[in-house]
Amino acid sequence: MISTRFLRPSVSIFGFGIKSSMSSRAPPKALLQDMVVPPRQLFGPGPSNMADSIAETQSRNLLGHLHPEFVQIMADVRLGLQYVFKTDNKYTFAVSGTGHSGMECAMVNLLEPGDKFLVVEIGLWGQRAADLANRMGIEVKKITAPQGQAVPVEDIRKAIADYKPNLVFVCQGDSSTGVAQPLETIGDACREHGALFLVDTVASLGGTPFAADDLKVDCVYSATQKVLNAPPGLAPISFSDRAMEKIRNRKQRVASFYFDAIELGNYWGCDGELKRYHHTAPISTVYALRAALSAIAKEGIDESIQRHKDNAQVLYATLKKHGLEPFVVDEKLRLPCLTTVKVPEGVDWKDVAGKMMTNGTEIAGGLGATVGKIWRIGTFGINSNSTKIENVVELLSKSIGEKSK
Ligand code: PMP
Repeated sequence: MISTRFLRPSVSIFGFGIKSSMSSRAPPKALLQDMVVPPRQLFGPGPSNMADSIAETQSRNLLGHLHPEFVQIMADVRLGLQYVFKTDNKYTFAVSGTGHSGMECAMVNLLEPGDKFLVVEIGLWGQRAADLANRMGIEVKKITAPQGQAVPVEDIRKAIADYKPNLVFVCQGDSSTGVAQPLETIGDACREHGALFLVDTVASLGGTPFAADDLKVDCVYSATQKVLNAPPGLAPISFSDRAMEKIRNRKQRVASFYFDAIELGNYWGCDGELKRYHHTAPISTVYALRAALSAIAKEGIDESIQRHKDNAQVLYATLKKHGLEPFVVDEKLRLPCLTTVKVPEGVDWKDVAGKMMTNGTEIAGGLGATVGKIWRIGTFGINSNSTKIENVVELLSKSIGEKSK
């Protein structure tokens, strides 16, 4: 094949005899081939498998983001998010971006120079929030649980009373450890001491009980690619009236236009005012989120949570049958939709995960401090199914056995 690079004609763009300084390039060979997307059972920490009803919506024709039909779809999404977060918060919408964009949106709006930030750290996600605050020049105090454990709520309440933070961060389900942090009464302590309460539910929403209003949460964010079984790309988020009051009374404007909650809230129709252009919503991903919320509304949010809880029991029992142990010892502190499993002595976790992958099934190794110690098995949404779970554990056990031969 002759490269088109050498076939470049002498083009005159500004006049006779002046050659274009722009070279032409051969197209990348890889892009001339079909894309390879093998079927895969996604039992890692996310993304999870997409439900067919959700995948189908993604190929629907695009609408303009200001067309009335799309505005209606956005309104439906807001109702669905209020339903799954269990909140009446007006400012409930989805940030265009993955789970991290929810975290960044929450923090750039709720923190301003001079504020104090308390982070409850039960794994990587507390560290990530602290890191972000450091980048923002905010004073951070961490209260850290030993690996595989939660921080006792009494300790959190005491830290709030002593440190008097402006904002408290808790990750409800830490995907690096598989720990579910109890949240009850933290919101009361925040109200008592003038703090706002921020919760990450990226890995937990729909898979373990959560109720923003009952828990007195001021801001909660999540993501679409875990229990919701939609593709990554949107971060559902909700701000309480207290949170919005703080944002409206900031001394300094929010440093990010893209994440400005007041602007985003207007764009999503939360303020009842005339809608202003903010950005171009990722139309197909919003369709997918609507389909995901419709699926969860049809099942019922409490029924979804119960199913994840019941199937977690199936997972624990099957692990036991195969001589495998959960990493989180206290069963009450295990996140039902993401289970961490101890890697047995002498077993190479990577080889085992690799073997499973060649069999079409993904599970993941540890993350951050848990690398090498655990596997992480996500059983999100449609993957929270007893037969699928038994098959995954059987494959895991078989892969461990094959390795040690
Ligand atoms: N928080 C938690 C608890 C998570 O598990 C993740 C993703 N694994 C994130 C935040 C970040 O989400 P994303 O990868 O979608 O940006």
